[in-house]
Amino acid sequence: MKFVIAVDCEGPAGVVGAPGGSLNDAPAQYEFARRQATAEASATARGLFAAGATQVIVWDNHSRGVNLVYEDLDERCDIFHGVHAKRLAMLDASFAGLLFIGYHARDNTVAAPLAHTFSSATYQWIKLNGREVGELAIDAAVAGALGVPALFVASDDKCVAEAREFFPGITTVTTKIGYSWNAALSKHPRRVLAEIEAAAQQAARNRTQVKPFTLPGPLEVEIRHKRIDTADQACLPVQGWTRVDAYTVKRTIQKLTDFF
Ligand SMILES: [Zn+2]
Repeated sequence: MKFVIAVDCEGPAGVVGAPGGSLNDAPAQYEFARRQATAEASATARGLFAAGATQVIVWDNHSRGVNLVYEDLDERCDIFHGVHAKRLAMLDASFAGLLFIGYHARDNTVAAPLAHTFSSATYQWIKLNGREVGELAIDAAVAGALGVPALFVASDDKCVAEAREFFPGITTVTTKIGYSWNAALSKHPRRVLAEIEAAAQQAARNRTQVKPFTLPGPLEVEIRHKRIDTADQACLPVQGWTRVDAYTVKRTIQKLTDFF
């Protein structure tokens, strides 16, 4: 019974970044975030192994994919890290589930710490067939296309709400209550670990109750940029996008993996 834990760095307990940039622009917060993401991934892995997991792959996917403190990670885990064009390149249909640690709400969400969709500087929202999606839905759909369900999310309350909206039956842990893009009421970062471990174990046991989430093609992709100049660049002939308005571009793709 094999699992992948997808790990981003914005959603762990105690992480709010700082105004004026992304998490990477707040060095002290980034340093804390990568340690807490490591601890939350380890807690998840302990729960999965207690439920009978035979392999747990931790996918380090924030920024350039080299963030976690590997020597502190539960040593039974394998690690997928670095830069690869294909999201979830290590996943195949033999896996029992995908779990999310440290993810954040999609952009265009109120009171969600560090909410963004791939780039907080570039995109205001991304819609697939008219529905706003974030990184949770996109990664879950990549797994869902292989028949692998999204089983678990630990993040702030807005990201948890987004997960429940997209993936009925998913098991969740709320690490913090978002007050703004840079403020939260957080659970203590050590206390939340026991909660994550117990919930991940439960999520593995409930895995057959959750249906894989899919976004079958063809898909109309609509992206609202934050700046007109990046929308201009997207509409250069080689890029293949057409203009909806000054900030918004769209194109049709045949399958989700064409998105990347
Ligand atoms: Zn990130």
